[in-house]
Amino acid sequence: MSRVYNFSAGPAVLPEEVLREAADEMLDYKGTGMSVMEMSHRSKAYETIIKEAEADLRELMNIPDNYKVLFLQGGASQQFAMIPMNLMKNKVADYIVTGQWAKKAYQEACIYGKANKIASSEDKTFSYIPDCSDLPVSEDADYVYICENNTIYGTKYKTLPNTKGKPLVSDVSSCFLSEPVDVTKYGVIYGGVQKNIGPAGVVIVIIREDLITEDVLPGTPTMLKYKIHADNDSLYNTPPAYGIYICGKVFKWIKAKGGLAAMKEYNERKAKILYDYLDESRLFKGTVRKEDRSLMNVPFVTGDEELDAKFVKEATAAGFVNLKGHRTVGGMRASIYNAMPIEGVEKLVEFMKEFEKQNEK
Ligand SMILES: *Cc1c(COP(=O)(O)O)cnc(C)c1O
Repeated sequence: MSRVYNFSAGPAVLPEEVLREAADEMLDYKGTGMSVMEMSHRSKAYETIIKEAEADLRELMNIPDNYKVLFLQGGASQQFAMIPMNLMKNKVADYIVTGQWAKKAYQEACIYGKANKIASSEDKTFSYIPDCSDLPVSEDADYVYICENNTIYGTKYKTLPNTKGKPLVSDVSSCFLSEPVDVTKYGVIYGGVQKNIGPAGVVIVIIREDLITEDVLPGTPTMLKYKIHADNDSLYNTPPAYGIYICGKVFKWIKAKGGLAAMKEYNERKAKILYDYLDESRLFKGTVRKEDRSLMNVPFVTGDEELDAKFVKEATAAGFVNLKGHRTVGGMRASIYNAMPIEGVEKLVEFMKEFEKQNEK
């Protein structure tokens, strides 16, 4: 068996310890004589799994009691519709567009009401986060929406927008559990788990209770109502049971590592190795405004498409995989989520230095 250094943006690297544990429990989960995949979601064993997952997540993120934690399906993209369907009481919402995921969420919201783009960084190919300290937030906006870490472009909000009292809705898919958060600053925090937490198929929604109401847009399907899932503790129908089980293991892994403060410290050390090199390299350069750099997704280019392709090819052969940039932006991108060990980044930088030496003009 040989594992590569997987820099995929998602689905992405998971902690090896978690994968080993899951493998050990594959055929017989704790004496039940079956895999978690084969288990009723109404069984005692499964009830313990989902309850513990929620409790561990609450502990990690210090989630207050007036927030619900929902384990749902449909990926982050389904939330693009579910959010306006459930929250657009006045049929008005403000969107800050800092990349493709925020743009898609904005476009989806336009189907259901008046979505206003109150700020954007599209003018410079989403390479920065706009100043959000005094935006023209709509008087009657039901919420202000952001994508907190822009997976494709590698930017991250370092300060949250001033929403002027409106609930903040944040897509944290690619920075989930990468650092401590103050949940009380948000109305909704949500993310697909396949970037930093678990296997694709689960989306976690952390939502303030007063935002969960029966008053949703007419025609909203039952499955897309937060209330139905909240009232049934994420067991209204069969949840993505195996995925939630893996998420639970990752929560325990993070707890054992020291929680979110320790994750942040580790992630900062990892990212610094790569960014420091990008800043001194004469071949590679980062594409993001320095103060807005993400700890999770690091895009970079050589400025020469052929050389980019050569780099990706040689890196792959050397065991550094999935470094090709998003199909819409080109270049390279190293996603260095929680589960990427620091050695992976160190070795990647060594490899990049060697490549630079051999390809200097
Ligand atoms: C990957 C990603 C999405 C889309 O997730 P799906 O689960 O594929 O729908 C949305 N937002 C962000 C920030 C992402 O990184």
